[in-house]
Amino acid sequence: MSNPLDAPASGPTQQDVFAARRRIAGTARRTPLVLAEQLSLELGGNVHLKLESLQPTGSFKVRGAANRLLALSGEERERGVVAVSTGNHGRAVAHVARLLGVRATVCISTGVPANKVAALRATGAEIVIFGASQDEAEVKAQELRAERGLTLVHPFDDALVIAGQGTIGLELLEDLPEIDTVLVPLSGGGLVSGVAVALKAANAAVRVVAVSAEAAPVMVRSIEAGRPLQLPEEGTLADSLRGGIGLDNRLTFRLVRELVDEHVTVSEDEIAEALRFLLLREQLVAEGAAAVGVAALLSGRVKACGATAVVVSGRNIDMTALLELTRESST
Ligand SMILES: *Cc1c(COP(=O)(O)O)cnc(C)c1O
Repeated sequence: MSNPLDAPASGPTQQDVFAARRRIAGTARRTPLVLAEQLSLELGGNVHLKLESLQPTGSFKVRGAANRLLALSGEERERGVVAVSTGNHGRAVAHVARLLGVRATVCISTGVPANKVAALRATGAEIVIFGASQDEAEVKAQELRAERGLTLVHPFDDALVIAGQGTIGLELLEDLPEIDTVLVPLSGGGLVSGVAVALKAANAAVRVVAVSAEAAPVMVRSIEAGRPLQLPEEGTLADSLRGGIGLDNRLTFRLVRELVDEHVTVSEDEIAEALRFLLLREQLVAEGAAAVGVAALLSGRVKACGATAVVVSGRNIDMTALLELTRESST
């Protein structure tokens, strides 16, 4: 819990992102940025996809998890870590913990899909299923942290985690130096904050567009309200975008407010259409949360002007469900 008398917590700087890049180099992958040929034809511009779907564990979350765990003290490593997760963060933490020989406990809600629970179990982490929402699972994690002296690895509201995700921004600058617009999925805001810190330090004019699912709009509503809100969770194809931002949010609420130029939300139908487009036209597997940027472009909610990059944040989707979707029409 933050003490209101504390100075406001500060987010990571560009230097922290450079430090993260050195730290995580052996653990997270430098992912390719590819020209999306079909999407570019469709929209009449040059749209590039940053394929975080190719990371070990299937999402960008391995960047932040690696940066956080590699910064643990010897004593903290001894005691172990605990994470709360809709799946991808927990899996990334468990994966990096195993590489480092650190014990990991992951708390998840009953809303996490079976394919993700199975992948988590396979990492050897201890799984604790508790509560119907991410917020309830977090209460459990806090309890375990206190009881067992574990270090809580937050999925987004942590300067080291944000700096780890920010390494995506450094790679975008190298691969597309003329970048004008980047579309980034938004839930808790660790991803878009990190990317924006890295990009804006190099070029303040880069337009950062955050894309949320209509069914998971907590950060957008919070920004509108001027303070962190709590909303009931809804089901969405973009299951990795579920979860609140924390009423005591320390970093990402402020970073998103300061650094994001534009917010858009996309509907379930638009996400489904983007998943179909990615699979059938670009021949790429993505999960719902990772398809929201493409959904924003295909639906015309965001115009691709100039050199545009879309962060395709992960691939952890139930393949049967994805194939089912592709049989359902359009594209
Ligand atoms: C966690 C996650 C996001 C959202 O990241 P935040 O830092 O919470 O905004 C987007 N896509 C995927 C695949 C994720 O796992």
